[in-house]
Amino acid sequence: MLELRLKKDLRKNLLRGHPWLYDGAIECLGPSKKQSEFCRILDQKKNFLAYGIYTPKSQLAVRVFSFNKKGNFAELIEERARTAMSLRASLIPSDATNAYRLFNGEGDLLPGLVCDVYGDTAVLQMDGTSLQDFWLQQEGITKFLSSSFASIALKERGKEKGELKWLKSKSKPLLEVKENHIRFMVDIAAGQKTGMFLDQRDNRDYIRSIAKDKSVLNLFSYTGGFSVYAGKGEAKHVTSVDISKGACEFAEKNWLANELPKDQHKALAENVFDILEDDQHYDMIIADPPSMAQSEKQKAAAIKKYIDLFSQVAKKVKDNGDMVFSSCSSHISFADFQSIVDESLSKARCRGQVLRFSGQGADHPYPHYLPEMRYLKFMHLIKKV
Ligand code: SAH
Repeated sequence: MLELRLKKDLRKNLLRGHPWLYDGAIECLGPSKKQSEFCRILDQKKNFLAYGIYTPKSQLAVRVFSFNKKGNFAELIEERARTAMSLRASLIPSDATNAYRLFNGEGDLLPGLVCDVYGDTAVLQMDGTSLQDFWLQQEGITKFLSSSFASIALKERGKEKGELKWLKSKSKPLLEVKENHIRFMVDIAAGQKTGMFLDQRDNRDYIRSIAKDKSVLNLFSYTGGFSVYAGKGEAKHVTSVDISKGACEFAEKNWLANELPKDQHKALAENVFDILEDDQHYDMIIADPPSMAQSEKQKAAAIKKYIDLFSQVAKKVKDNGDMVFSSCSSHISFADFQSIVDESLSKARCRGQVLRFSGQGADHPYPHYLPEMRYLKFMHLIKKV
């Protein structure tokens, strides 16, 4: 088996739970197969430290797999898959919700493997083709999924939108799912990520609980997730805004699929920044933009963009109204986000009373030592002047 030696003293980091080694931190002792494979990680003195998954030509070269010297990898993988499934079963009542994340990579000790479930269809998405091939070769995963789901699709990153590879009996790409008893149409082929932003489920439910009798503006609304929940929470009126016409049509469909009054919702296919220019005010505004920092390099510019957006949002919320801010960028930490909100409110000349500062749902677990995977920030504040 491929052996890798640490070039730096990262032994403690690894043992404390940091599950990644970058390219520069390891020396490859061989033999390498030039594809993702299991490896033995040795410390600087060449003592065994852990097993990992090595991906050549990747900056994120090694993902820790197990610290146990003995053990059958196939059995371990299957056991981890089963554990992940029973965790979801305990977290998510199946009569209310059938769309959730089943495997969250490192968070489920299945490094780099993501699998979202939409009813009886499982959608896999991996970080890069080499790691993808690795996971598709693991019978512990393929057999487990085959016995649990009617259809399995692979959504490759970077591929044209709409392309899916079916690994088990093709289903329609347009699926209907339920989330907290709310119906959603999901396009797993043309939709973003695997189809839906499942990580916001608990936050969407929270919006339902605070929307009663309010005029709501949902910015970057995608397929209307927050909008429909606000409607179910008896909002007076909801306006969804997304630059994508297709997303707006979906939001309309999802609104009507839940028997909500047609005249209490409108979906505008427009640029959020144009909408922010008008002088209309709302009781509640939700701003959940796409990631503005795709890399650490873009972080400073992204912080400015978030402040610009959130301050404009704050100005458009009525006094004592609800400001809801979110960011899904892993390069923006909770502390960064807090500072962004501080700056935004200062710029808008108001203050905020925080009622909730949360993140991703429990079906998106992460290792305590890997805050990069704690990427979703969601804050609700009441505007005070
Ligand atoms: N809040 C959504 C997810 C948002 S994803 C949910 O909970 O499901 C980000 C969305 O922002 C995408 O649908 C994208 O089309 C939209 N978008 C990106 N830039 C935009 C802009 N300048 N104006 C309006 N929408 C934009």
